[in-house]
Amino acid sequence: MIVMKFGGTSVEDAKAITRVAEIVQDRIGQKPVVVVSAMARVTDTLLTMARAAGAGDRKAALKLCRSLQERHYNTASELLGTARFTDFHSELGSDFELLDELLRGISAVGEITPRTTDHVAAFGEMLSSKIVAAAFSSHGIKSEHVDSREVLVTDSNYMSAAPQTEETNQRLQAKVKPLVDSGHVPVMGGFIGANRAGITTTIGRGGSDFSAALFGAGLGADRIDIWTDVDGILTTDPRICPDARRIKVISFDEAAELAYFGAKVLHPATVLPAIQKNIPVYVLNSRNPSCEGTKITTQAPRGNNIFKAIAVKKRITIIDVAAPRMLLAHGFLRSIFEAFDRHKVAVDVVSTSEVSVSLTVDSNQAIPALAADLAKLADVKYEGRKAIVCLVGESLREKSGVAALVFRELSDKKIRMISQGASEINLTFVIEEDEVPEVIQRLHGVFFADPDPEVYA
Ligand code: ADP
Ligand code: ASP
Ligand code: MG
Repeated sequence: MIVMKFGGTSVEDAKAITRVAEIVQDRIGQKPVVVVSAMARVTDTLLTMARAAGAGDRKAALKLCRSLQERHYNTASELLGTARFTDFHSELGSDFELLDELLRGISAVGEITPRTTDHVAAFGEMLSSKIVAAAFSSHGIKSEHVDSREVLVTDSNYMSAAPQTEETNQRLQAKVKPLVDSGHVPVMGGFIGANRAGITTTIGRGGSDFSAALFGAGLGADRIDIWTDVDGILTTDPRICPDARRIKVISFDEAAELAYFGAKVLHPATVLPAIQKNIPVYVLNSRNPSCEGTKITTQAPRGNNIFKAIAVKKRITIIDVAAPRMLLAHGFLRSIFEAFDRHKVAVDVVSTSEVSVSLTVDSNQAIPALAADLAKLADVKYEGRKAIVCLVGESLREKSGVAALVFRELSDKKIRMISQGASEINLTFVIEEDEVPEVIQRLHGVFFADPDPEVYA
C-alpha cells in the first residue's frame, strides 16, 4: 500500500486532475490511498472571504464564493461530462449552499473566530477531494471519497490543530483500510480534520503533506509520495535560482531542517511520522511523472559537496530586546520566552549578548501586541523585511572552516544574525530581504559549481 499526496498545483484544473488520474491508474497495483490539497490558491481565497465576512463585508465575501463555485463547477463538468456532472452538481451545490450560509452568518455577527475560520477553510479540501474521487470513477478507477473529518482526529487548537495519533489510527483501520483491501482507491482531503466533538479543524497551512504522512504511518504504507510541481527537492528555491539541481537522496534530518527554514516544497512536520516508522518519502513531479524525484530516508549519502541545499525564509522580523546590564543574568530569558509563548509566536533564530537578545519571527505574526508585552520587561525594537538563509548538510558536522567560506563570499553584505550548532547540520544567518536573490545565487554558484553525481541529478 502506498500513500500518494497531490498538492494544489497538481489538482489546479481539469487538465491537472486528469494527469493525476493517469498517474494513479499507472500505480494501481501498489494499492494507492490518495490525499489531495485544495485546488491551487483556493485556501487563500477562502481565508480572504472569511476575513471579508468577519469585517461585515457580506457582498465581497459572497462574490468571492460565487467565483469559487464557478471554478469548481467548470472543473467538474469538464472532467465528468454532462451526464455524470448532473448527478454530481447537486452534491457540490449543497456544499456551496452551506458555505454561502456560513458567510452570511459570519457577516451578520461581524466577527471571525479561529473556529469559524476553519469551517470556511475546510471547504477547499472537501471540494477538491470529491471532485478528484468523481474524476477517478469516470476514469475507470474504483474510487471512494472518504471525508477526512471522520478520520483525522485532532485537538481543538483551531487553525493549527494537533492530530491525535491513536484515535486517528483506529479510524484509519476502521474506515480506510477495508476500502484498500476491497480494491478501492480511497480519496481524502489533506489539511482538514475534526476534534473529538466532531467540529471541523485544520492542522496549519501547507498541512496536506502532514496528513499524508500521518495516514501513511497509521496505515503502515510502504512509501509516501508527495506529488508537486517541481522535480523533487532542489538545491535551492528554483524561483530564485533557475539552475537549482535535483537532489536524488536526502536524509530526514536534512529535509526537516530545509523545510523548517522555508523550503516550501515540504511541510516541516511531514517527515516526523514517517521517520518514526522508517517509511521512505518521495517528492515527485506530477507534470513530469517519469522523473525519479527525491527520496527522503534516514540515511543518505553525504557526497562531496559541503552543503546539501540552501533554504530561504522571507518575511522575517527581527525583535531586539535590550535590558540594562546584568539583568540578563537570571530569569530574564525565561520571561522573554514566556511572552512569546503567551502570544503563540514561534521563534526561529536567537542570539544573545550580556545586554540584549535578538530573535527572529515570521512577519505575519501579531508583533505589535507581543512588542507591547515585551516592553514591560525591557527596551524593544523590531524591524521587518529580513530573510533567513539556511545552508544545510550533514557534512557540516565534520568539516572545519565552512563559516569562513560562506562569509568570505558575502563580505560586502550586512549579516544581521548568525547561528550554527543547534542541529549541527545547518548554518543559518539573517540578511536584508531585498538581497535574497543575489545572496542565494552567489552561494549556489560557489557551493554547487561541481555537484557530486552520486547526490545530484
Ligand atoms: P504543493 O502545492 O504541491 O504543496 P508547494 O507550492 O507547497 O507545492 O511547494 C512546491 C514549491 O516549493 C515549488 O514550486 C518551489 O517553487 C518551492 N520551493 C522552495 N524551495 C524549494 C526547494 N529547495 N526545492 C524544490 N522546491 C522548492
Ligand atoms: N490547502 C492548504 C493550504 O493551502 C493545505 C495544503 O495545501 O497543504 O495551506
Ligand atoms: Mg505544499
